[in-house]
Amino acid sequence: MSRKLSSASDEPFDYLVVGAGFSGAVVAERLASQLGKRVLVIDKRPHIGGNTYDFYNEDGVLVHRYGPHIFHTSSQKVVDYLSCFTEWRPYEHRVLAHVDGKLLPIPINLDTINRLYDLNLDSAGMEKFLADRVESRTQIRTSEDIVVSRVGRELYEKFFRNYTRKQWGLDPSELDSCVAGRIPVRFDRDDRYFSDSFQAMPLEGFTCLFERMLGHPNINVLLSTDYREVMNSYPSAKVVYSGPIDEFFDYRFGPLPYRSLRFEHQTHDREQFQPTTVVNYPNDHDYTRITEFKHLTGQKHEKTSIVYEYPTDGGEPYYPIPRPENAALYERYRDLASATEGVYFCGRLANYRYFNMDQVVAQALHMYRNIADDESTDLSLQIPARMLGSATSTTQAAT
Ligand code: FAD
Ligand code: UDP
Repeated sequence: MSRKLSSASDEPFDYLVVGAGFSGAVVAERLASQLGKRVLVIDKRPHIGGNTYDFYNEDGVLVHRYGPHIFHTSSQKVVDYLSCFTEWRPYEHRVLAHVDGKLLPIPINLDTINRLYDLNLDSAGMEKFLADRVESRTQIRTSEDIVVSRVGRELYEKFFRNYTRKQWGLDPSELDSCVAGRIPVRFDRDDRYFSDSFQAMPLEGFTCLFERMLGHPNINVLLSTDYREVMNSYPSAKVVYSGPIDEFFDYRFGPLPYRSLRFEHQTHDREQFQPTTVVNYPNDHDYTRITEFKHLTGQKHEKTSIVYEYPTDGGEPYYPIPRPENAALYERYRDLASATEGVYFCGRLANYRYFNMDQVVAQALHMYRNIADDESTDLSLQIPARMLGSATSTTQAAT
Protein backbone atom coordinates (compact mmCIF):
# COMPACT_ATOMS: atom_id res chain seq x y z
CA MET A 1 0.00 0.00 0.00
CA SER A 2 3.03 2.30 0.07
CA ARG A 3 2.61 2.99 -3.62
CA LYS A 4 3.67 6.33 -4.97
CA LEU A 5 2.33 7.56 -8.26
CA SER A 6 4.92 7.67 -10.99
CA SER A 7 3.45 10.81 -12.46
CA ALA A 8 0.64 11.92 -10.23
CA SER A 9 -0.35 14.91 -12.34
CA ASP A 10 -1.18 12.68 -15.35
CA GLU A 11 -4.18 11.30 -13.48
CA PRO A 12 -7.40 13.28 -13.74
CA PHE A 13 -8.66 12.83 -10.17
CA ASP A 14 -12.15 13.98 -9.20
CA TYR A 15 -11.31 14.19 -5.49
CA LEU A 16 -8.20 14.68 -3.39
CA VAL A 17 -8.64 13.19 0.06
CA VAL A 18 -6.16 14.51 2.60
CA GLY A 19 -5.50 11.93 5.32
CA ALA A 20 -5.59 8.12 5.14
CA GLY A 21 -7.14 7.69 8.61
CA PHE A 22 -10.73 6.57 9.17
CA SER A 23 -12.25 9.87 7.98
CA GLY A 24 -10.35 10.01 4.71
CA ALA A 25 -10.54 6.28 4.00
CA VAL A 26 -14.32 6.06 4.50
CA VAL A 27 -15.08 9.04 2.26
CA ALA A 28 -12.60 7.84 -0.39
CA GLU A 29 -14.05 4.33 -0.40
CA ARG A 30 -17.64 5.60 -0.74
CA LEU A 31 -16.77 8.08 -3.50
CA ALA A 32 -14.95 5.39 -5.46
CA SER A 33 -17.33 2.48 -4.95
CA GLN A 34 -20.68 4.28 -4.95
CA LEU A 35 -20.16 7.23 -7.28
CA GLY A 36 -17.37 5.83 -9.47
CA LYS A 37 -15.16 8.83 -8.68
CA ARG A 38 -11.41 8.75 -9.20
CA VAL A 39 -9.82 9.54 -5.85
CA LEU A 40 -6.30 10.38 -4.75
CA VAL A 41 -5.70 9.82 -1.02
CA ILE A 42 -2.67 11.70 0.31
CA ASP A 43 -1.01 11.24 3.67
CA LYS A 44 2.16 12.77 4.98
CA ARG A 45 2.88 9.66 7.03
CA PRO A 46 4.53 6.64 5.38
CA HIS A 47 1.49 4.41 6.06
CA ILE A 48 -2.30 4.26 5.84
CA GLY A 49 -4.66 3.99 8.83
CA GLY A 50 -3.94 7.35 10.52
CA ASN A 51 -3.67 6.98 14.27
CA THR A 52 -5.08 3.46 14.21
CA TYR A 53 -2.10 2.08 12.23
CA ASP A 54 -0.91 -1.32 13.47
CA PHE A 55 1.99 -3.46 12.27
CA TYR A 56 4.11 -6.49 13.15
CA ASN A 57 7.26 -5.22 14.89
CA GLU A 58 10.74 -6.70 14.38
CA ASP A 59 9.92 -9.47 16.87
CA GLY A 60 6.73 -10.37 15.02
CA VAL A 61 4.32 -8.95 17.61
CA LEU A 62 1.31 -6.97 16.33
CA VAL A 63 1.44 -3.50 17.91
CA HIS A 64 -0.39 -0.17 17.53
CA ARG A 65 2.12 2.54 16.67
CA TYR A 66 0.06 5.39 18.15
CA GLY A 67 -1.16 3.73 21.34
CA PRO A 68 -3.98 1.26 21.99
CA HIS A 69 -7.01 1.56 19.71
CA ILE A 70 -10.03 -0.36 20.92
CA PHE A 71 -13.10 -0.45 18.72
CA HIS A 72 -16.48 0.01 20.41
CA THR A 73 -19.78 1.42 19.19
CA SER A 74 -23.52 1.35 19.67
CA SER A 75 -24.15 2.20 16.01
CA GLN A 76 -25.27 -0.80 13.98
CA LYS A 77 -24.83 1.28 10.83
CA VAL A 78 -21.13 1.73 11.58
CA VAL A 79 -20.69 -1.98 12.37
CA ASP A 80 -22.49 -2.99 9.15
CA TYR A 81 -20.33 -0.68 7.07
CA LEU A 82 -16.97 -1.73 8.56
CA SER A 83 -17.97 -5.39 8.40
CA CYS A 84 -17.70 -5.11 4.60
CA PHE A 85 -13.93 -4.87 5.14
CA THR A 86 -13.16 -7.00 8.16
CA GLU A 87 -14.22 -9.87 10.34
CA TRP A 88 -14.15 -9.25 14.06
CA ARG A 89 -12.52 -10.73 17.14
CA PRO A 90 -14.78 -10.28 20.19
CA TYR A 91 -12.88 -8.23 22.77
CA GLU A 92 -14.08 -6.39 25.87
CA HIS A 93 -11.56 -3.89 27.18
CA ARG A 94 -10.62 -3.91 30.87
CA VAL A 95 -8.31 -1.47 32.63
CA LEU A 96 -6.71 -1.53 36.08
CA ALA A 97 -5.51 1.57 37.92
CA HIS A 98 -2.51 1.43 40.23
CA VAL A 99 -3.75 3.26 43.35
CA ASP A 100 -2.50 2.99 46.96
CA GLY A 101 -0.30 0.04 45.97
CA LYS A 102 -3.25 -1.96 44.55
CA LEU A 103 -4.41 -2.71 41.02
CA LEU A 104 -8.09 -1.69 41.00
CA PRO A 105 -10.77 -1.68 38.30
CA ILE A 106 -11.37 1.64 36.51
CA PRO A 107 -14.14 2.80 35.77
CA ILE A 108 -14.87 2.85 39.48
CA ASN A 109 -17.26 0.00 40.32
CA LEU A 110 -18.33 -2.01 43.35
CA ASP A 111 -15.07 -3.99 43.42
CA THR A 112 -13.00 -0.80 43.23
CA ILE A 113 -14.62 0.57 46.38
CA ASN A 114 -14.62 -2.74 48.27
CA ARG A 115 -10.99 -3.51 47.50
CA LEU A 116 -9.70 0.00 48.02
CA TYR A 117 -11.33 0.36 51.45
CA ASP A 118 -11.47 -3.34 52.47
CA LEU A 119 -15.26 -3.27 52.55
CA ASN A 120 -17.95 -5.73 51.54
CA LEU A 121 -20.67 -3.43 50.20
CA ASP A 122 -23.46 -4.42 47.84
CA SER A 123 -24.78 -2.05 45.15
CA ALA A 124 -27.14 -0.25 47.55
CA GLY A 125 -24.28 0.06 50.04
CA MET A 126 -22.05 1.60 47.40
CA GLU A 127 -24.76 4.09 46.45
CA LYS A 128 -25.03 5.19 50.07
CA PHE A 129 -21.22 5.23 50.42
CA LEU A 130 -20.88 7.62 47.48
CA ALA A 131 -24.00 9.66 48.35
CA ASP A 132 -22.33 10.51 51.69
CA ARG A 133 -19.24 11.76 49.88
CA VAL A 134 -20.30 13.46 46.65
CA GLU A 135 -20.15 17.25 46.35
CA SER A 136 -23.26 18.82 44.89
CA ARG A 137 -22.77 21.26 42.03
CA THR A 138 -25.45 23.53 40.62
CA GLN A 139 -23.76 23.41 37.25
CA ILE A 140 -21.51 20.71 35.78
CA ARG A 141 -19.02 22.62 33.66
CA THR A 142 -15.61 21.08 34.25
CA SER A 143 -14.06 17.64 34.62
CA GLU A 144 -13.60 18.33 38.33
CA ASP A 145 -17.32 19.14 38.66
CA ILE A 146 -18.42 15.94 37.03
CA VAL A 147 -16.12 13.64 38.99
CA VAL A 148 -16.61 15.13 42.49
CA SER A 149 -20.37 15.18 41.91
CA ARG A 150 -20.30 11.48 41.03
CA VAL A 151 -17.76 10.00 43.45
CA GLY A 152 -16.62 12.70 45.87
CA ARG A 153 -13.27 14.35 46.45
CA GLU A 154 -11.19 11.47 47.81
CA LEU A 155 -11.78 9.17 44.84
CA TYR A 156 -11.33 12.15 42.53
CA GLU A 157 -7.91 12.76 44.07
CA LYS A 158 -6.88 9.11 43.92
CA PHE A 159 -8.04 8.22 40.39
CA PHE A 160 -8.63 11.37 38.36
CA ARG A 161 -6.85 14.52 39.44
CA ASN A 162 -3.25 13.54 38.86
CA TYR A 163 -3.92 11.38 35.81
CA THR A 164 -5.71 14.29 34.17
CA ARG A 165 -2.99 16.76 35.10
CA LYS A 166 -0.40 14.45 33.56
CA GLN A 167 -2.45 13.67 30.46
CA TRP A 168 -3.55 17.20 29.64
CA GLY A 169 -1.06 19.44 31.46
CA LEU A 170 -4.14 21.07 33.02
CA ASP A 171 -6.10 20.65 36.21
CA PRO A 172 -9.50 18.93 35.72
CA SER A 173 -11.08 22.23 36.84
CA GLU A 174 -9.68 23.76 33.61
CA LEU A 175 -11.10 21.10 31.26
CA ASP A 176 -14.60 20.59 29.91
CA SER A 177 -16.70 18.00 31.75
CA CYS A 178 -16.78 15.83 28.61
CA VAL A 179 -13.15 14.75 29.22
CA ALA A 180 -13.45 12.86 32.51
CA GLY A 181 -17.19 12.46 31.87
CA ARG A 182 -16.23 9.74 29.37
CA ILE A 183 -15.55 7.44 32.32
CA PRO A 184 -18.76 6.12 33.94
CA VAL A 185 -19.31 5.02 37.55
CA ARG A 186 -20.84 1.59 38.02
CA PHE A 187 -22.67 0.26 41.05
CA ASP A 188 -22.24 -3.36 40.02
CA ARG A 189 -19.21 -5.54 39.25
CA ASP A 190 -19.12 -4.76 35.51
CA ASP A 191 -15.44 -3.96 34.95
CA ARG A 192 -15.54 -3.30 31.20
CA TYR A 193 -14.04 0.02 30.19
CA PHE A 194 -16.78 0.71 27.63
CA SER A 195 -20.55 0.21 27.80
CA ASP A 196 -21.26 0.01 24.05
CA SER A 197 -23.32 -2.83 22.58
CA PHE A 198 -20.59 -3.76 20.07
CA GLN A 199 -17.02 -4.24 21.31
CA ALA A 200 -14.55 -6.04 19.06
CA MET A 201 -11.24 -5.75 17.26
CA PRO A 202 -10.72 -6.14 13.51
CA LEU A 203 -9.69 -9.80 13.21
CA GLU A 204 -6.51 -9.14 11.21
CA GLY A 205 -5.88 -5.65 12.58
CA PHE A 206 -6.71 -2.10 11.51
CA THR A 207 -4.14 -1.79 8.72
CA CYS A 208 -5.59 -4.82 6.97
CA LEU A 209 -9.05 -3.26 7.19
CA PHE A 210 -7.71 -0.06 5.63
CA GLU A 211 -5.95 -1.99 2.84
CA ARG A 212 -9.32 -3.42 1.85
CA MET A 213 -11.09 -0.05 2.06
CA LEU A 214 -8.47 1.70 -0.03
CA GLY A 215 -7.95 -1.24 -2.40
CA HIS A 216 -10.66 -0.07 -4.81
CA PRO A 217 -9.26 0.34 -8.34
CA ASN A 218 -10.50 3.96 -8.50
CA ILE A 219 -8.37 4.90 -5.49
CA ASN A 220 -4.70 5.87 -5.61
CA VAL A 221 -2.72 6.41 -2.44
CA LEU A 222 0.20 8.81 -2.14
CA LEU A 223 2.13 8.41 1.10
CA SER A 224 4.93 10.41 2.76
CA THR A 225 3.58 13.50 1.03
CA ASP A 226 2.21 16.73 2.46
CA TYR A 227 -0.90 17.63 0.46
CA ARG A 228 0.45 21.15 -0.03
CA GLU A 229 3.24 19.72 -2.21
CA VAL A 230 0.78 18.36 -4.76
CA MET A 231 -2.43 20.40 -4.40
CA ASN A 232 -1.67 22.70 -7.29
CA SER A 233 -1.28 19.77 -9.69
CA TYR A 234 -5.04 19.13 -9.45
CA PRO A 235 -6.76 22.50 -9.66
CA SER A 236 -10.11 21.05 -10.72
CA ALA A 237 -10.33 18.30 -8.08
CA LYS A 238 -12.57 18.76 -5.08
CA VAL A 239 -10.93 18.26 -1.69
CA VAL A 240 -11.88 16.24 1.37
CA TYR A 241 -9.65 17.41 4.20
CA SER A 242 -9.11 15.48 7.45
CA GLY A 243 -5.95 17.21 8.67
CA PRO A 244 -5.79 19.99 11.30
CA ILE A 245 -8.16 22.84 10.40
CA ASP A 246 -5.83 25.58 11.69
CA GLU A 247 -3.02 24.28 9.45
CA PHE A 248 -5.32 24.38 6.40
CA PHE A 249 -5.82 28.11 6.95
CA ASP A 250 -2.13 28.76 7.67
CA TYR A 251 -2.88 29.40 11.36
CA ARG A 252 -4.58 32.67 10.42
CA PHE A 253 -6.14 33.13 13.86
CA GLY A 254 -3.28 31.42 15.72
CA PRO A 255 -2.69 27.70 16.41
CA LEU A 256 -5.34 25.54 18.05
CA PRO A 257 -3.82 23.88 21.14
CA TYR A 258 -3.29 20.12 21.09
CA ARG A 259 -1.97 17.64 23.61
CA SER A 260 0.52 15.13 22.29
CA LEU A 261 2.12 11.88 23.41
CA ARG A 262 5.53 10.28 23.23
CA PHE A 263 5.25 6.53 22.81
CA GLU A 264 7.97 4.30 24.21
CA HIS A 265 7.62 0.82 22.71
CA GLN A 266 9.41 -2.16 24.30
CA THR A 267 9.48 -5.91 23.73
CA HIS A 268 10.12 -8.27 26.64
CA ASP A 269 11.46 -11.78 26.56
CA ARG A 270 8.52 -13.30 28.41
CA GLU A 271 5.00 -14.25 27.50
CA GLN A 272 3.12 -11.75 29.66
CA PHE A 273 4.06 -8.38 31.17
CA GLN A 274 0.93 -7.36 33.13
CA PRO A 275 -2.45 -8.91 34.00
CA THR A 276 -4.61 -6.88 31.61
CA THR A 277 -4.34 -4.82 28.40
CA VAL A 278 -3.93 -1.46 30.11
CA VAL A 279 -2.69 -0.43 33.54
CA ASN A 280 -3.17 3.25 34.45
CA TYR A 281 -0.74 5.03 36.76
CA PRO A 282 -2.57 8.12 38.01
CA ASN A 283 -0.20 9.02 40.83
CA ASP A 284 3.23 7.59 40.00
CA HIS A 285 5.68 8.00 37.09
CA ASP A 286 5.71 10.47 34.20
CA TYR A 287 3.77 8.09 31.96
CA THR A 288 0.00 7.71 32.24
CA ARG A 289 -0.45 4.09 31.24
CA ILE A 290 1.18 0.90 29.96
CA THR A 291 -0.51 -1.16 27.25
CA GLU A 292 0.32 -4.80 26.50
CA PHE A 293 -0.86 -5.56 22.97
CA LYS A 294 -1.25 -9.34 23.06
CA HIS A 295 -4.26 -9.05 25.42
CA LEU A 296 -5.88 -6.86 22.78
CA THR A 297 -5.04 -8.76 19.64
CA GLY A 298 -5.23 -12.32 21.02
CA GLN A 299 -1.86 -13.08 19.41
CA LYS A 300 0.09 -16.04 20.83
CA HIS A 301 3.82 -15.30 20.97
CA GLU A 302 6.71 -16.23 23.27
CA LYS A 303 7.62 -12.53 23.63
CA THR A 304 5.37 -9.61 24.51
CA SER A 305 5.33 -5.97 23.39
CA ILE A 306 4.18 -3.02 25.47
CA VAL A 307 3.97 0.76 25.09
CA TYR A 308 4.36 3.54 27.64
CA GLU A 309 2.53 6.83 26.99
CA TYR A 310 4.26 10.04 28.05
CA PRO A 311 2.06 13.12 27.53
CA THR A 312 3.80 16.14 25.98
CA ASP A 313 2.96 19.63 24.81
CA GLY A 314 4.73 19.64 21.44
CA GLY A 315 4.59 16.95 18.77
CA GLU A 316 1.87 15.30 16.68
CA PRO A 317 -1.58 16.80 17.29
CA TYR A 318 -3.30 13.84 18.98
CA TYR A 319 -5.79 15.39 21.38
CA PRO A 320 -7.86 18.53 20.74
CA ILE A 321 -8.13 20.15 24.19
CA PRO A 322 -11.80 20.62 25.15
CA ARG A 323 -12.15 23.98 26.88
CA PRO A 324 -14.29 27.04 26.06
CA GLU A 325 -11.55 29.33 24.71
CA ASN A 326 -10.34 26.61 22.31
CA ALA A 327 -13.91 25.97 21.15
CA ALA A 328 -14.27 29.70 20.46
CA LEU A 329 -11.06 29.73 18.38
CA TYR A 330 -12.20 26.64 16.50
CA GLU A 331 -15.53 28.36 15.67
CA ARG A 332 -13.60 31.08 13.84
CA TYR A 333 -11.85 28.47 11.72
CA ARG A 334 -15.13 26.62 11.19
CA ASP A 335 -16.69 29.81 9.78
CA LEU A 336 -13.80 30.07 7.33
CA ALA A 337 -14.28 26.41 6.41
CA SER A 338 -18.00 26.93 5.73
CA ALA A 339 -17.13 29.74 3.34
CA THR A 340 -14.52 27.66 1.45
CA GLU A 341 -16.03 26.19 -1.72
CA GLY A 342 -14.99 22.79 -2.99
CA VAL A 343 -13.47 21.61 0.30
CA TYR A 344 -15.17 19.23 2.74
CA PHE A 345 -13.75 19.11 6.29
CA CYS A 346 -14.08 15.94 8.35
CA GLY A 347 -12.54 13.99 11.23
CA ARG A 348 -10.97 14.59 14.59
CA LEU A 349 -8.47 17.23 13.51
CA ALA A 350 -10.64 19.18 11.05
CA ASN A 351 -13.50 19.34 13.58
CA TYR A 352 -11.19 19.82 16.55
CA ARG A 353 -13.28 17.24 18.46
CA TYR A 354 -12.28 14.44 20.84
CA PHE A 355 -13.99 11.82 18.60
CA ASN A 356 -13.70 8.05 18.94
CA MET A 357 -13.19 5.91 15.84
CA ASP A 358 -16.86 4.98 15.48
CA GLN A 359 -17.91 8.64 15.68
CA VAL A 360 -15.41 9.48 12.96
CA VAL A 361 -16.73 6.69 10.74
CA ALA A 362 -20.34 7.82 11.31
CA GLN A 363 -19.41 11.40 10.51
CA ALA A 364 -17.53 10.38 7.35
CA LEU A 365 -20.52 8.34 6.12
CA HIS A 366 -22.73 11.36 6.72
CA MET A 367 -20.28 13.62 4.92
CA TYR A 368 -20.23 11.26 1.95
CA ARG A 369 -24.02 11.56 1.70
CA ASN A 370 -23.70 15.37 1.66
CA ILE A 371 -21.10 15.13 -1.09
CA ALA A 372 -23.34 12.79 -3.07
CA ASP A 373 -26.19 15.31 -2.70
CA ASP A 374 -23.90 18.09 -3.92
CA GLU A 375 -22.85 15.91 -6.86
CA SER A 376 -26.46 15.34 -7.87
CA THR A 377 -27.14 19.09 -7.56
CA ASP A 378 -24.09 19.85 -9.75
CA LEU A 379 -25.33 17.30 -12.23
CA SER A 380 -28.81 18.79 -12.32
CA LEU A 381 -27.31 22.21 -13.13
CA GLN A 382 -25.49 20.74 -16.15
CA ILE A 383 -28.35 18.64 -17.51
CA PRO A 384 -31.33 19.85 -19.53
CA ALA A 385 -34.45 19.97 -17.37
CA ARG A 386 -36.17 17.17 -19.29
CA MET A 387 -33.42 14.71 -18.27
CA LEU A 388 -33.34 15.70 -14.62
CA GLY A 389 -35.62 12.95 -13.30
CA SER A 390 -33.48 10.09 -14.59
CA ALA A 391 -30.12 11.72 -13.65
CA THR A 392 -31.22 12.30 -10.07
CA SER A 393 -32.57 8.81 -9.61
CA THR A 394 -29.38 7.24 -11.00
CA THR A 395 -27.26 9.14 -8.50
CA GLN A 396 -29.56 8.35 -5.61
CA ALA A 397 -29.62 4.68 -6.47
CA ALA A 398 -25.82 4.68 -6.31
CA THR A 399 -25.82 6.16 -2.81
P1 FAD B 1 -6.34 10.60 11.93
O1 FAD B 1 -6.34 9.16 12.21
O2 FAD B 1 -5.49 11.50 12.78
O3 FAD B 1 -5.95 10.80 10.39
C1 FAD B 1 -5.62 12.06 9.85
C2 FAD B 1 -4.49 11.83 8.85
O4 FAD B 1 -4.26 13.08 8.16
C3 FAD B 1 -3.18 11.46 9.53
O5 FAD B 1 -2.74 10.18 9.07
C4 FAD B 1 -2.22 12.56 9.12
O6 FAD B 1 -0.91 12.11 8.85
C5 FAD B 1 -2.88 13.12 7.87
N1 FAD B 1 -2.49 14.51 7.63
C6 FAD B 1 -2.55 15.55 8.49
N2 FAD B 1 -2.06 16.65 7.90
C7 FAD B 1 -1.68 16.31 6.64
C8 FAD B 1 -1.09 17.01 5.55
N3 FAD B 1 -0.74 18.31 5.66
N4 FAD B 1 -0.83 16.34 4.40
C9 FAD B 1 -1.13 15.02 4.29
N5 FAD B 1 -1.68 14.29 5.31
C10 FAD B 1 -1.95 14.94 6.46
N6 FAD B 1 -10.67 5.92 19.40
C11 FAD B 1 -11.41 4.84 19.74
O7 FAD B 1 -12.54 4.67 19.24
N7 FAD B 1 -10.92 3.88 20.61
C12 FAD B 1 -9.68 4.00 21.17
O8 FAD B 1 -9.27 3.12 21.94
C13 FAD B 1 -8.89 5.13 20.84
N8 FAD B 1 -7.67 5.26 21.38
C14 FAD B 1 -6.91 6.35 21.03
C15 FAD B 1 -5.63 6.45 21.59
C16 FAD B 1 -4.84 7.52 21.25
C17 FAD B 1 -3.46 7.61 21.86
C18 FAD B 1 -5.32 8.52 20.37
C19 FAD B 1 -4.46 9.70 20.00
C20 FAD B 1 -6.58 8.43 19.81
C21 FAD B 1 -7.40 7.34 20.14
N9 FAD B 1 -8.67 7.18 19.58
C22 FAD B 1 -9.43 6.10 19.94
C23 FAD B 1 -9.22 8.16 18.62
C24 FAD B 1 -8.94 7.74 17.18
O9 FAD B 1 -7.54 7.71 16.97
C25 FAD B 1 -9.59 8.75 16.24
O10 FAD B 1 -10.97 8.87 16.49
C26 FAD B 1 -9.43 8.40 14.76
O11 FAD B 1 -8.21 7.78 14.47
C27 FAD B 1 -9.55 9.70 13.97
O12 FAD B 1 -9.47 9.43 12.60
P2 FAD B 1 -9.22 10.63 11.60
O13 FAD B 1 -9.18 10.06 10.24
O14 FAD B 1 -10.19 11.74 11.86
O15 FAD B 1 -7.79 11.22 12.02
N1 UDP C 1 -9.07 9.62 33.41
C1 UDP C 1 -8.47 9.69 34.66
N2 UDP C 1 -8.01 8.54 35.24
C2 UDP C 1 -8.09 7.34 34.63
C3 UDP C 1 -8.69 7.26 33.36
C4 UDP C 1 -9.16 8.42 32.77
O1 UDP C 1 -8.35 10.76 35.22
O2 UDP C 1 -7.65 6.33 35.22
C5 UDP C 1 -9.59 10.87 32.80
C6 UDP C 1 -8.46 11.60 32.05
O3 UDP C 1 -8.72 12.99 32.11
C7 UDP C 1 -8.63 11.09 30.64
C8 UDP C 1 -10.16 11.03 30.52
O4 UDP C 1 -10.58 10.56 31.82
O5 UDP C 1 -8.05 11.96 29.70
C9 UDP C 1 -10.70 10.14 29.43
O6 UDP C 1 -10.12 8.84 29.56
P1 UDP C 1 -9.96 7.89 28.31
O7 UDP C 1 -9.43 6.60 28.78
O8 UDP C 1 -11.24 7.90 27.55
O9 UDP C 1 -8.83 8.67 27.52
P2 UDP C 1 -8.18 8.31 26.09
O10 UDP C 1 -8.32 6.84 25.90
O11 UDP C 1 -8.93 9.14 25.13
O12 UDP C 1 -6.76 8.72 26.25
